[in-house]
Amino acid sequence: MAKKICPRAVGCKKREYKVLKYSKPVCPSCNCELDHLNMYEKGEKKTMLVICDGEPIWEEIEFYPDSSVDFECPECNEILTHKSEDAIKILKGKKIKIKAR
Ligand SMILES: [Zn+2]
Repeated sequence: MAKKICPRAVGCKKREYKVLKYSKPVCPSCNCELDHLNMYEKGEKKTMLVICDGEPIWEEIEFYPDSSVDFECPECNEILTHKSEDAIKILKGKKIKIKAR
């Protein structure tokens, strides 16, 4: 089986991959090539508002994530999955079925 230096990961310890197993990750929605997905974490942000020298100052205290996370394609902004396992599968070039929004 032909082997090649992995072009994507300079710090990759393996430095090689099996060509036959490798496929470029594409967006299951718009078919563009993916090098990353955008993750949106939902939740509640607690911010403190104080007045300092007559000026309002907002200071972020804490973020309380709820369980919902969206992984979106950076090209078409389609929500591809809510699960990090599936997001990793997509970026590894595996085909997964995308669920309806
Ligand atoms: Zn897309």
